[in-house]
Amino acid sequence: MTMLEQGTISIHTENIFPIIKKWLYSDHEIFLRELISNAVDAMQKMKMVSMAGEYSGEVGEPEVVITVDKDNKQLTITDNGIGMTADEVKQYITQVAFSSAEEFVEKYKDSGDQAIIGHFGLGFYSSFMVAQKVEIDTLSYKEGAEAVHWSCEGNTDYQLEASEWNQRGTKITLTLMEEEIEYAEEARIKSLVKTYCDFLPVPIKLGDEQINKQKAPWKESPSNLTDEDYLEFYRYLYPFQEDPLLWVHLNTDYPFIVNGILYFPKLKPDIDVTKGQIKLFCNQVFVSDNCEEVIPQFLMPLQGVIDSSDIPLNVSRSFLQNDRTVRRIADYIAKKVGDRLKALYRDDRDAYIRCWQDVGTFVKFGSINNDKFKKQIEDILIYRTTAELAPAPEPTAEPAIENSEDTTDDAWADSPTDAKEEASAASSEPPHTTLKEYLERNQERHENQVYYCTDEVNQATYVSLLKNQGLEVLFLDTFIDTHFVPFLEREYTDVKFARVDADLDETLIDKDQAAEIVDPTTNQTRSEIIKALFEKSLDNSNLTIRTEALKSDTPQGAPPAMVLLPESARRMQEMMAM
Ligand code: ADP
Ligand code: MG
Repeated sequence: MTMLEQGTISIHTENIFPIIKKWLYSDHEIFLRELISNAVDAMQKMKMVSMAGEYSGEVGEPEVVITVDKDNKQLTITDNGIGMTADEVKQYITQVAFSSAEEFVEKYKDSGDQAIIGHFGLGFYSSFMVAQKVEIDTLSYKEGAEAVHWSCEGNTDYQLEASEWNQRGTKITLTLMEEEIEYAEEARIKSLVKTYCDFLPVPIKLGDEQINKQKAPWKESPSNLTDEDYLEFYRYLYPFQEDPLLWVHLNTDYPFIVNGILYFPKLKPDIDVTKGQIKLFCNQVFVSDNCEEVIPQFLMPLQGVIDSSDIPLNVSRSFLQNDRTVRRIADYIAKKVGDRLKALYRDDRDAYIRCWQDVGTFVKFGSINNDKFKKQIEDILIYRTTAELAPAPEPTAEPAIENSEDTTDDAWADSPTDAKEEASAASSEPPHTTLKEYLERNQERHENQVYYCTDEVNQATYVSLLKNQGLEVLFLDTFIDTHFVPFLEREYTDVKFARVDADLDETLIDKDQAAEIVDPTTNQTRSEIIKALFEKSLDNSNLTIRTEALKSDTPQGAPPAMVLLPESARRMQEMMAM
């Protein structure tokens, strides 16, 4: 093909501007998040500059001050950060999509690890979604810098002039559009700060009152937090909910940065397990309630916070792309959850059993869905059993060091101490066993055979028959087990899983007490009597009926009669029903 022309695409600011203003961000309210982020960035930068020894003045306590003036439709956001010189305003503000963040971080990378939120150089312009006029008064920390005033009325023209502003830092003044006057309401501003900026590391004040919580527990080292701290944070995030069962504190910065605290909630019908519950943050700024891509599907019911500056976000930060890093973070979370559970299983079996009813559901779902996770936790899958087992062993004094390639500074919070105290008081948890233990225990009686019950009430007769004969039954009776039993069968192809009402164990049949005994009154065998009874009741003379005598030499005796439905026939029925 012959090349006709090669060139550069040109952009007309006057055309692109309305697009940025109206459509880049779906939500007008996020302008406040953007301006506060910029203010916080400016103060973090000030810290870094000072640490690099490039500023000899007093840095002072950082704070963001917001004021509202409803009569004049004005909103101001003031910081005591690095400020900007006239040249910087021209460079960073008047050039759309030009951010100083990368250059700055590169230059001061050795001066502390203050996280800078800015990135794309677009956030500032979101203020034009709500303001008819935006003004900046700013004074740079740089020696000899003079204060400047910049103003723009939402078109491509701006004015830059000298300013009266006499304190280091920046004041942004928005004159709101008529239809956006709600942003001059104190209550509205408070609630926005709560949503987006609650955990930003500097005080954010409305007038004199600090309105953000400021402390982000997930950024703390786990060793600095008590159980009560974790619980308190949970109650703060999810008021009016039952306390969580346990939690996982994520804390890594290699190969990606992820901090967070994830909670296993007590599962309740009103928790929608198909919808993500975790709040996503980026450098402590709230991004979204929906970060389903970052959470492995089977951990969807988890609650809490994930903060990662490595999660690629588009500029509106409200849509996550399903890219490689995101998938790797999801894998990491799955692994950390697995580690946490293994540690609990190892260190406090009773506590583990106590939350199994709920946590087990996640784990089983994860085993079915995630091969890596399955391999990690298959040894700690447990089942409630009819066997009378000795209490769980005391935690070993020297816990086995887990073989982990992880070199990061991860640490795990303990499970709640009150749970531990309860555990030591009495081991009242129903006995649970692993599949391996079950098979070993019952090897002599029936090799590679597992009896299970899916409905404790309706299958009670069968369970007690087996139990009375010294056979062990596992309970697979939660909603996930409908999927989990077929999974087990696929996994353990040499093990036969039989529901208690399927086939009778050979050892339960009394071969001597043959069912062929002739009944003296009717002169028929018992088999014949039963066959006739069924044929009549079902109006079908084409039945194959096998009758066996049950052993009755148990304290409770055998039930008078039991109907069995072979496993394959029952599955067929269930499939048809579906
Ligand atoms: P970003 O924050 O992604 O860099 P913005 O459009 O929000 O993009 O801001 C552009 C640039 O303007 C910032 O990188 C910063 O250099 C400068 N800036 C914005 N607000 C302030 C402020 N309050 N103090 C100092 N500099 C600021
Ligand atoms: Mg910004």
